[in-house]
Amino acid sequence: MRESSRPRHWPPVWPDVTSPDVLAAVAAVPRHEFVPPAYWDQAYEDIPLPIGCGQTISQPYIVAAMTQALKLTPDSRVLEVGTGSGYQAAVLAELTPHVWTIEAVPELAASAAARLRRLGYQVAVREGDGRLGWPEHAPYDGILVAAAPRDVPPPLIAQLADGGRLVIPLGDSVWNQRLWLIEKRGETLSKTYLADVRFVPLVSAEPMPDSTNPAFASIRKKLQKLFEHP
Ligand code: SAH
Repeated sequence: MRESSRPRHWPPVWPDVTSPDVLAAVAAVPRHEFVPPAYWDQAYEDIPLPIGCGQTISQPYIVAAMTQALKLTPDSRVLEVGTGSGYQAAVLAELTPHVWTIEAVPELAASAAARLRRLGYQVAVREGDGRLGWPEHAPYDGILVAAAPRDVPPPLIAQLADGGRLVIPLGDSVWNQRLWLIEKRGETLSKTYLADVRFVPLVSAEPMPDSTNPAFASIRKKLQKLFEHP
């Protein structure tokens, strides 16, 4: 990578991303390291790019907006679902040393883990189905989902700390997705609409193995109520 192709003003100005910490985090992560060489000259454009295996690295603006919505502090524990290139995980790792991320495609999980390690990021990467979360390290103050399911997977709500924030795109097609912030306070869930977005689908080849778990049944009921009038 020719350092010269990294623009002097990066990130660009985003009217609604104003957190100095988040902007500094985006500025610190070398995005060209996360895209194939063929796309190096576009690495600092505010667009998604292909990363292989039919997947994409998200648009920097969306990465920044989702990160800002989590309101992370250096003590926050955060889980990402959909590691992809590892770029979003690196941005999170600039804000807290407690980052876990799950990727369904084995090649992507392996290459992201190697890339993050090489760049000096301490991020735990696991291959697996992110719909189930990563219960061993729960509860999380923040959970960021980088692929879109139709409905919120109940385990992610179960693994959210009291006061925790979940940022997740929901929708049944790429043309009909909305990004939501879901907050958990005690037994109560609330939602805030953030943006219209376009993510790859959260893959779900298997039915949720826990569909009969009573703890998840009550979460499902709450989620149904929460999204009754979207
Ligand atoms: N955050 C990534 C971009 C995400 S693209 C980055 O910064 O580069 C969405 C990713 O979610 C893809 O890599 C896709 O393979 C993964 N994915 C899809 N369904 C998943 C699931 N059920 N569990 C974990 N990862 C999943």
